[in-house]
Amino acid sequence: MTTRYLVTDPRYGFLKQLGITVENPGLYDGRWGGSGKLIESISPATGKVIAKIRESTPQEASNTITEARKAWPQWTSIPTPARGDIVRQIGDELRRNLKPLGCLVSLEMGKILPEGIGEVQEFIDICDYAVGLSRMLPGSLFPSERKNHALLEKWNSLGVIGVISAFNFPIAVYGWNSAIAMVCGNTIVWKGAPSTPLVSIATTKIISDVLERNGIPGSVASLITGGSDVGETLVNDKRVPLISFTGSTNVGRQVALKVQQRFGKSLLELGGNNALIVAQDADLEMAVRAAVFSCVGTAGQRCTSTRRLILHKKVKNEFLGKLKTAYNSILKRVGDPLEDGVLYGPLHNQQAVDKYKTAIEKAVKAGGTIEFGGKQIQRPGFYVEPTIISGLSIEAEVVQQETFAPIVYVLEANSLEEAIDLNNGVEQGLSSSLFTKSIGNIFQWIGPHGSDCGIVNVNIGTSGAEIGGAFGGEKATGGGRESGSDAWKHYMRRATITINHGNELPLAQGIKFE
Ligand code: NAD
Repeated sequence: MTTRYLVTDPRYGFLKQLGITVENPGLYDGRWGGSGKLIESISPATGKVIAKIRESTPQEASNTITEARKAWPQWTSIPTPARGDIVRQIGDELRRNLKPLGCLVSLEMGKILPEGIGEVQEFIDICDYAVGLSRMLPGSLFPSERKNHALLEKWNSLGVIGVISAFNFPIAVYGWNSAIAMVCGNTIVWKGAPSTPLVSIATTKIISDVLERNGIPGSVASLITGGSDVGETLVNDKRVPLISFTGSTNVGRQVALKVQQRFGKSLLELGGNNALIVAQDADLEMAVRAAVFSCVGTAGQRCTSTRRLILHKKVKNEFLGKLKTAYNSILKRVGDPLEDGVLYGPLHNQQAVDKYKTAIEKAVKAGGTIEFGGKQIQRPGFYVEPTIISGLSIEAEVVQQETFAPIVYVLEANSLEEAIDLNNGVEQGLSSSLFTKSIGNIFQWIGPHGSDCGIVNVNIGTSGAEIGGAFGGEKATGGGRESGSDAWKHYMRRATITINHGNELPLAQGIKFE
């Protein structure tokens, strides 16, 4: 682990509970440290510096990979259920730290506290899932066509997994990857977003304490901190057979090409441009409630946030009227994400505010009408109004792009077929929702000619997935699947094994070679 930190603002008691204090400048057990750039962690709610962190250098990142690689033989030789027990203990520690860690997510990322806590809960949930998995990781036995032969399939760990994650889910995404990767027998080197380093440090500290208490080196779950240069060190290193990358489509494309170049594997969770369709027969009250959370929740900074509302022309005006009323009530609940009762927090940083403004300018230039919002909110930090824009076509550049801000574009459809075409008419393919009461509509939507996304919802919004299913998207979202279902297969390599337990040497397909 190669991170040094120095908290400059001691106001937040929960930081102390997590072992992050002003008195402790960051050298843990003589092993924490870094000698790269000094960067600042900034509170999105105030714009003020929370901490200064010394990043890793690329050389230190490479050394960290060496340590994680060294730890792999020991870790992978522990029986899988015993590794599961370590992950159970990590889940227990996270339970103990649920509130302080949730507060830290909220402080550093800027999402409201219930969502900050929800992220830690998601890590706990996936730990539970991984513990179960550790008792049931399957293999297969197929009938062999040859006498006295056994045909088997066995799954083995890969080695060191590189996890690169985005700022908007600073802990849950790492949780999905690490819990499953660890029960599968891998060690991990994690590079979180450079703007959420304290969450990465606090999380890694919790995990390394559990590992060390069990006599296992902390390097099983290593952390490096830094930007693209440190990320590239991980991406280009042949000792890292799998890179799990969560972030924008543009960076993900570069990462995928580099990993492919060295025949590594990549697991990509990239940008979304998610649509929510309201059919003529939808329950409008329910659709509006779902749309509000999906459009403005996390201030539009979820990969699954609703970016396009596709409304049947017969319900469009009524739906928009109700939505604007709901948006007005949200404006009364804007505030510091750590405070009770706040529903709407800031964007993550100034660049996000700039991108929000640029997108709105472009939308208006292209002929869009601002139905709601459109301006920065005048208060400290990085707050902007939730925004609804109508009058643009699906081809408009801003509608095609993912702007990571609370802007939603309204499109109109005359039929479900037309709505599905609009849903599928962008390069991304992450999440999608249909509100309808018709069973026929539902089966059209979930079928081969329906939504082309990885997440296909009915009568719920586009955001807020559970850990049980596989999470991920198609097309420019990268095709990866993480979290539940059979996503564990990404973290293992499959060996197809044929064992001859007889005294003859028959060839497959009856071939004679004598
Ligand atoms: P980003 O692409 O700017 O950065 C993501 C991570 O990649 C960061 O840790 C960053 O430091 C690192 N990075 C940047 N350049 C790199 C390089 N050349 N090599 C290696 N690593 C590099 O994304 P962001 O702004 O942090 O996050 C927002 C984006 O992430 C959005 O597009 C969002 O949709 C996406 N996202 C997707 C999912 C998903 O599951 N599909 C989940 C969360 C976020």
